[in-house]
Amino acid sequence: MKITVIGTGYVGLIAGLGFAKWGNEVVCLDVIPEKIEKLQKGICPIYEPGAEVQLADGLASGRLRFTCDVKEAVEHGEMIFIAVGTPEAPDGSADMKYVYSAVDEIAEYMQSYKLVVDKSTVPVGTARVLKERMAKRLAQLGKDIPFDVASNPEFLREGRAVGDFNNPDRIVLGVFSEEAGTRLRTLYKVFARSNKPIVVTTPETAEMIKYASNAFLATKITFINEIANLCEQVGANALEVAAAMGKDGRISPKFLHPGPGYGGSCFPKDTKALADTGVKYNAPLTVVESVIAANQRQKQLAARKVTSRFPQGGTIAVLGLSFKPETDDIRESPAVEMVQVMLEAGGFTLRLYDPKAMDNAKAVLGADRPGLVWCASTAEAVQGADAAVIATEWSEFSTLDFDRLKAEMHQPILFDLRNVYHKEDVTAQGFEYYGTGV
Ligand code: NAD
Repeated sequence: MKITVIGTGYVGLIAGLGFAKWGNEVVCLDVIPEKIEKLQKGICPIYEPGAEVQLADGLASGRLRFTCDVKEAVEHGEMIFIAVGTPEAPDGSADMKYVYSAVDEIAEYMQSYKLVVDKSTVPVGTARVLKERMAKRLAQLGKDIPFDVASNPEFLREGRAVGDFNNPDRIVLGVFSEEAGTRLRTLYKVFARSNKPIVVTTPETAEMIKYASNAFLATKITFINEIANLCEQVGANALEVAAAMGKDGRISPKFLHPGPGYGGSCFPKDTKALADTGVKYNAPLTVVESVIAANQRQKQLAARKVTSRFPQGGTIAVLGLSFKPETDDIRESPAVEMVQVMLEAGGFTLRLYDPKAMDNAKAVLGADRPGLVWCASTAEAVQGADAAVIATEWSEFSTLDFDRLKAEMHQPILFDLRNVYHKEDVTAQGFEYYGTGV
C-alpha cells in the first residue's frame, strides 16, 4: 500500500517505520527541516529503543522516505495518517490547530481518492468535524474528489514504542464506511496470524476508547499514589498493599506503583481534554477531574519531601529527568517539575543527570540557569551532594554503589521517589531513606 504519515514525532515516526517494515511504501512528512534531514541520514531525532535499527532497514529497503514537501507527501499516499501533536490549549482542551492544518493541506494538494486516518489523540467528534472540514475545503477549491475519514487511535508507550506498534494489544478502527474499514483491515492484516483483536466501530467510539483508556490508567496511578500518601501517615507499607491488591485478578498489579505523579505527553493533556469534553456535553467526569488535581498535588508533594527535609536549601543530586525511563521525553515530567519547585523554593544547587534527556531538559529548564549543574554521570551528580533523588527509575539507578555514593556525597540521604530500592537495604548501608508510601 502507498501510505503517507503526517508528523514524525513519537507516534508518526514509529508508525511510519512499522508500516514500511510490513512492506508498504511509506512517505513521512514533517514541518521541521532539521528533523527530516536527520531522518534522511538515518539519524533518529528521538530516543526510542530499536527505532534507529528499523530506520536503517526502512531506508535500505527503499520503501521509506522522509520529506518536508507537502505536495509530494499528499500525492504519494492513498492512505494518509495524521500523527501531529494535539497539545493542551490554555483552557485545558486539546489544541487542534496542527490536525486542522494537516487536513487543510491534504485537501489543497490531493488529486485523487484519499483515506485520511487520524492517529492523533483527538476529542470525540473530531473525525466528523474533519470530514466536514475537508468537504468544505474541497468545495472551495472547486475539487470534486472522493475521500473518506477514519479514526485509528494509537496506544503505543514511549520507551517501548517499536515493540508496542508491532505487537499491539488491540487495534481500534473507527470508520464511517465499510470501504474504509476494509482498507484499514487490509493494512493491519499483518496481525491476522497472531490473532490480535481488531475492533471496528464508529469514529466517535474509537476516539472515546483512547481517552477512556488513558484516563483509566491515570486514575489507577493516582489512586495508588494517594493510598501511598496515607500509608506514610499511618505507618503502612504501600508496596505491600499494592502487591496484595494486585493479586486480585480484577485489579491486576499493573499501574499500581506509587511515585511522584504521572507525566508525559499523554496522560496529563488527555485527562484534561476528556474532562473538558465532559463539561462541554454536560456529562461531568468528576473522577477524572479529581485525578487531575490529585496528580498535580502529588508532583508538588514529591518536591516538598526534599524541601521540608532541607528547609535551608542544599545541594541535591537529581537522577533522572525524563518522565519515565527509556525515553528522552520530558513533557510534563514530574522530575522537571520538581526541579522547578526546588529552584523556586530557593537555596538549592541541583546537580542534574539523565541518561538520555539532558538536551531536552536543558532546552526547557535553561542550560545556563543559576542553581543548575548539568552532570555527565551519576558519579558526577552525587559529588558533594547533601542528598540524591531518584526521580525517574532508569535501570542504571537500580545498581548504585552505596559505598561509593557515601564516600562522594556530603551526607548519605536518598529520596527514592520511585521505590527502586527496599528501605531496609538502603538504611542498612547507613543511608537516611525516603521512598513513596513506605
Ligand atoms: P510529537 O510532538 O512528538 O510529534 C508531532 C510531530 O508533528 C512534530 O514533529 C511536528 O513537527 C509535526 N507536525 C506538526 N504539524 C505538522 C504538519 N502540518 N505537517 C507535518 N508535520 C507536522 O507528538 P507525538 O508524541 O508523536 O503525538 C502525536 C499524537 O499522538 C498526539 O495526539 C498524541 O496525543 C498521540 N499519542 C502520543 C503517544 C506518545 O506516547 N507520544 C501515544 C499515543 C498517542
